[in-house]
Amino acid sequence: MLLTHIIIHYDEITLKGGNRPFFERVLLNNIKEFLKNIKYDKIYKDGGKFVIDISKTDSKTGTQNIEKILKNIPGISNFCFAISVEKDIKMIGEETVKAVRSYLEKNKVETFKIEARRSDKEFEFKSPEINYKIGEAVFENTELKVDVHNPELEIIVDVGHRQCFIYFEKIKGIGGLPVNAAGKLVSLLSGGIDSPVASYMMMKRGARIIFVHFKNKTINNTGDDKIKSLVKELSRFQGNSKLYIIPFEEFQKEIIAKIPSKNRMIVYRRVMFKLAEMIAKKEKAKGFVTGDSLSQVASQTLDNIGVIYNSVNLPIFSPLIGMNKQEIIDLALKIRTYETSIIPYQDCCSFLIAKHPETKARLEDILKQEENLEISKIAERIIIKIRSEVI
Ligand code: ATP
Ligand code: MG
Repeated sequence: MLLTHIIIHYDEITLKGGNRPFFERVLLNNIKEFLKNIKYDKIYKDGGKFVIDISKTDSKTGTQNIEKILKNIPGISNFCFAISVEKDIKMIGEETVKAVRSYLEKNKVETFKIEARRSDKEFEFKSPEINYKIGEAVFENTELKVDVHNPELEIIVDVGHRQCFIYFEKIKGIGGLPVNAAGKLVSLLSGGIDSPVASYMMMKRGARIIFVHFKNKTINNTGDDKIKSLVKELSRFQGNSKLYIIPFEEFQKEIIAKIPSKNRMIVYRRVMFKLAEMIAKKEKAKGFVTGDSLSQVASQTLDNIGVIYNSVNLPIFSPLIGMNKQEIIDLALKIRTYETSIIPYQDCCSFLIAKHPETKARLEDILKQEENLEISKIAERIIIKIRSEVI
């Protein structure tokens, strides 16, 4: 059986009313960008779906690569490998029977159901008639029995505008909305388990993520491989990503000199946001992403989160805030960042903080202690030199 097309169904875009064409355009652009190194004939919109013509994608690895890529593109709800047939009911019947026979050579099923779709409302037969006619052809020419409630094989006959598609199995995508539809966010990426998962969560809500990592080279000179490989894994979902690595040692020295140890973690994180805000301005990003989960560590008590999030004006998004550690780990495994996240790495946040850090910080106290910090002076000198890397 020669599979000639891929049918792509999208997720929430269908709920977008008047903005739907915009979301469809963004998703189509993303798919084209992801497939730019792969040979296929063309991609086009047909009714409420996209169709990729792969009749000229010769090798099996070619189609396998497309499958791998589509599985990770936010906005795609599912996709199917299909054969195409002329829009003639007799031909559709014959080709469906051929396709089912070929399917039965490799798969053992006993019951089926035809599920007709009609994107072309002008087609001479309505869905129930298509179900009946094609169902009859399959019933008479194979051993299969009909089961409309719980079929082992669901045969979709989709009459599009140009041709009719026949397919059996849907491959699940990650759903959500296409990257770039929502605008940009700066993600504070630590190298731990949580922040990569948080970045992924916002990507599948349509945000393009710019990554910022703070590093103190004097306590951690292991190189940047770990951070870069995390960004590389996450780029499977949004395409090429920008990463800024900001040297944190001077800021940290300044904080250690002037802030009592029990408040240092809070001030490290406030300063990180302030510096990330400079990157956000440059990138025209509209907010931040962080891997905070309520009460997981001392910096994540409600009081401390209040004080930390008060450091900047742009909104801070914490998509993991209500998740348990195990739930976050499960997602990290699913998106394949876990293995990299658990490689030992000294995060600058844990450097010279107290054994018993403050858990009920008060904004007035922290602001008072920060008065003598000369962060912006150091920032002017350092941030201006920082260039992003594309990964
Ligand atoms: P993670 O697993 O994401 O590191 P965590 O539970 O270890 O989270 P913290 O290390 O306190 O918690 O960090 C909380 C959040 O602060 C992180 O999710 C991340 O967004 C940000 N953060 C911490 N350290 C850094 C860093 N060195 N560079 C950039 N962001 C950081
Ligand atoms: Mg951490």
